[in-house]
Amino acid sequence: MRYVIRQSLCKRLQVQEGPFAELLLLGSGSFSQPALDRPLAGTGAGPGGGAAARARAASSWAGPAMAAEPPGARGFYRQLPKVELHAHLNGSISSATMKKLMAQKPDLQVPHGMTMIDKGKRRSLEECFHMFQIIHQITNRTEDILMVMKDVVQEFAADGVKYLELRSTPRDEPTTGMTKRTYVEAVLEGVRQCKEDGLDIDVRFLLSVDRRGGQIAAKETVKLAEDFLLSTDGVVVGLDLSGNPSAGHGKDFLEPLLEAKKAGLKLALHLSEIPNQEEETRLLLGLPPDRIGHGTFLHSSSLASGDLVQLVRQNRTPLELCLTSNLKSQTVLSSDQHHFGFWYNLGHPIVLCTDDKGVFATDLSQEYQLLADTFRLSKVQIWEISYNAINCIFASSHTKTKLKEQWHQLKTSVLE
Ligand code: 5GP
Repeated sequence: MRYVIRQSLCKRLQVQEGPFAELLLLGSGSFSQPALDRPLAGTGAGPGGGAAARARAASSWAGPAMAAEPPGARGFYRQLPKVELHAHLNGSISSATMKKLMAQKPDLQVPHGMTMIDKGKRRSLEECFHMFQIIHQITNRTEDILMVMKDVVQEFAADGVKYLELRSTPRDEPTTGMTKRTYVEAVLEGVRQCKEDGLDIDVRFLLSVDRRGGQIAAKETVKLAEDFLLSTDGVVVGLDLSGNPSAGHGKDFLEPLLEAKKAGLKLALHLSEIPNQEEETRLLLGLPPDRIGHGTFLHSSSLASGDLVQLVRQNRTPLELCLTSNLKSQTVLSSDQHHFGFWYNLGHPIVLCTDDKGVFATDLSQEYQLLADTFRLSKVQIWEISYNAINCIFASSHTKTKLKEQWHQLKTSVLE
């Protein structure tokens, strides 16, 4: 039985060769993970890729381990009130929740290493996208989505996140009867139950368009987002364009994204996550988006892309930056080379985020700590980064004011 499921998984994931096929097609016993959990993957998409660069990366980053950390430092990052604006639901599943899901699906023998990249380990971006496809096999019922949603929100709240914008790709799952609409309803039910439980966190939702789905699926998602924008009293705030950046072309999404914008949905677009996407990025910046996901190669040194930086600066479009994600998926080779430095030095609005806290085995407090340690930022500078993130949220100015008051109330005790 297990073998049959592995075969069908493999077929659905279209992994005829490579590390996943190797693992998925093991004829006996459960999956083994060493082929994936290697310190460095061989297909990094980062700048100056190749053996030498990867060797440099291997020596310069060994996971977010903090050397000579003063006592209480961890407490500071956890107590710091935080805003999380770039978190994909299925990438944010903790190992505790994954265990609960797997217990309900004993036939799916998926090992830990196929849903999470441990500390100090890396994969290629392509491998990360295969991981999401595996996770989607595990969360294929509306009750899974509801449980995941509640757990993820609780975990962000426990980490000191006061305002959270989660995003997720609505999915049809013919095998379980889940539809894109019931998927979103499950997400919203999760938000409702967390509110009822009195969690100290304000949660909003963005519907994601997966590039792999093409224009027709994108239009369908926009339509759904428009419906929920009108019926959820401010919980649904926008639309995200994500998915494998090598799939499709941004021009295919211009029309549905423009339609979404006209309907009042905010746009958060993954842009220039991999090199050589200047043409697509220029096109999508014309919309313009309300926030940019990653933007890793926006500032790459080629003269041709100088105008992209200018465009982003003119519009003061905030960038959502995710350090551990970029390091583990090897689009950035070491934390000190992260594009945070470039944009921060320009005084440009940036928001620190986790991206996929489950897959990348991190949380927002760790991301702040990694940022502070890498760029030698003081507690006051870290506080300001957290506070300024409030200006980048998609909720109303009334919510912004309330959050700012909350930050002011906490400031003295947190910075003490
Ligand atoms: P979901 O939308 O299923 O809740 O979360 C997983 C999905 O988010 C992935 O299948 C992928 O489409 C998207 N995603 C997660 N992390 C990234 C990332 O770093 N870059 C891009 N472009 N998409 C991502």
